[in-house]
Amino acid sequence: MKSIEIDLYKELKKYFGFSQFKGLQEQVVNSIIYGNNTFVIMPTGGGKSLCYQLPALVLEGTAIVVSPLIALMKNQVDAIRALSSEIGVAHVLNSSLTKTEITQVKEDIKRGVTKLLYVAPESLTKDEYVEFLNSVPLSFIAIDEAHCISEWGHDFRPEYRNLRNIIRKLGDIPIIGLTATATPKVQEDILKNLEIANANTFKASFNRANLYYEIRPKTKNVESDIIKFINLFKGKSGVIYCLSRKKVEEITQVLQVNGVSAVAYHAGLDAKTRAKHQDMFLMEDVDVVVATIAFGMGIDKPDVRFVIHHDIPKSLESYYQETGRAGRDGGEGYCLAYYSYKDIEKLEKFMAGKPLAEQEIGFALLQEVVAYAETSVSRRKFLLHYFGEEFDEVNGDGADMDDNSRNPKSKKEAKDQVEL
Ligand code: ADP
Ligand code: MG
Repeated sequence: MKSIEIDLYKELKKYFGFSQFKGLQEQVVNSIIYGNNTFVIMPTGGGKSLCYQLPALVLEGTAIVVSPLIALMKNQVDAIRALSSEIGVAHVLNSSLTKTEITQVKEDIKRGVTKLLYVAPESLTKDEYVEFLNSVPLSFIAIDEAHCISEWGHDFRPEYRNLRNIIRKLGDIPIIGLTATATPKVQEDILKNLEIANANTFKASFNRANLYYEIRPKTKNVESDIIKFINLFKGKSGVIYCLSRKKVEEITQVLQVNGVSAVAYHAGLDAKTRAKHQDMFLMEDVDVVVATIAFGMGIDKPDVRFVIHHDIPKSLESYYQETGRAGRDGGEGYCLAYYSYKDIEKLEKFMAGKPLAEQEIGFALLQEVVAYAETSVSRRKFLLHYFGEEFDEVNGDGADMDDNSRNPKSKKEAKDQVEL
């Protein structure tokens, strides 16, 4: 292997304008530069993109980046191009390109200009692309959002399952997996499916010490309770998650009637309305977005002060991701979820028609949600334990930032309180 003499800090400054690496980035970048299979687990916003972008920019050849969403890929490519004077430095290869555009992309790759090639997993099933990629020098392949490989993840995509077979056809290149999903089960699945048991693994802490977690029983008064809560946050930004589009519309109306500036967001609205409502929220023309889980992917509003779950999510993973949209700026984020066992039964009913294996997984995930909602243990400790992380509920960072820690109750009290 040739010796590598790269001044990483110089490159970091040159390409990204940063003087410091964030968290484990430097170790990850080194691992990749030295050609190792590498596995990165960092919470959303942790800075995973740079972990593979910087190595891609300094290594010879093209890095392939597999990413599930075209919108996310476009954002990343635009961002990279803004940093470099070479227009061809990053490309997206997917079905939306014209023949001419595809030729251009291939030319740039052959000339060695393209350092990052973003592809959707579907595109990689095309023999034509795979053959072409096999004929050019590649630095590594990064699988972003690698949890899509696992049925235990919150966003399973069957196409991801086939990635290993395709990579085999690309020759012996290092594989980099990245995810914000911290559950040990999902991690096992990723390592197994990508066949990278030997990978250097880097896992950041998932503790969000500035988030306050609270569960309240869901009574008939839930709507007036929400309004009272929001009135304590006048002029501040917040998100309310509901299970159904219908509920989103209902709650939005109730809020508006009660003088809260709120808009709705769900997949039943046309794209234009959705974009408008999202912009209104980002530009602070409204305080509150009432939304289904369709809202949030890739949204980065730093000063969201509260996230309310009108309906409990179907897994703790989803709960963590959704509450995680609060307090990105480091300021306090209040995460309030309403819980009733009836809602669990509703979620169970939704699963009824699904394949058996999927149902079993769904039920197991729901049981964890129930246990979390009904626990008397520090919520932070419970959540982090679920992610395979130990938390010291006395001295740990954010130890008093949940209802159970501030108002200790017995096991029975905790259960009785949410059982209606
Ligand atoms: P992830 O994919 O882990 O959710 P991103 O890669 O999107 O996170 O990065 C999140 C944010 O962190 C971005 O705005 C990015 O510019 C910023 N960021 C990444 N690395 C650094 C760094 N070394 N210094 C400062 N900001 C950084
Ligand atoms: Mg990312």
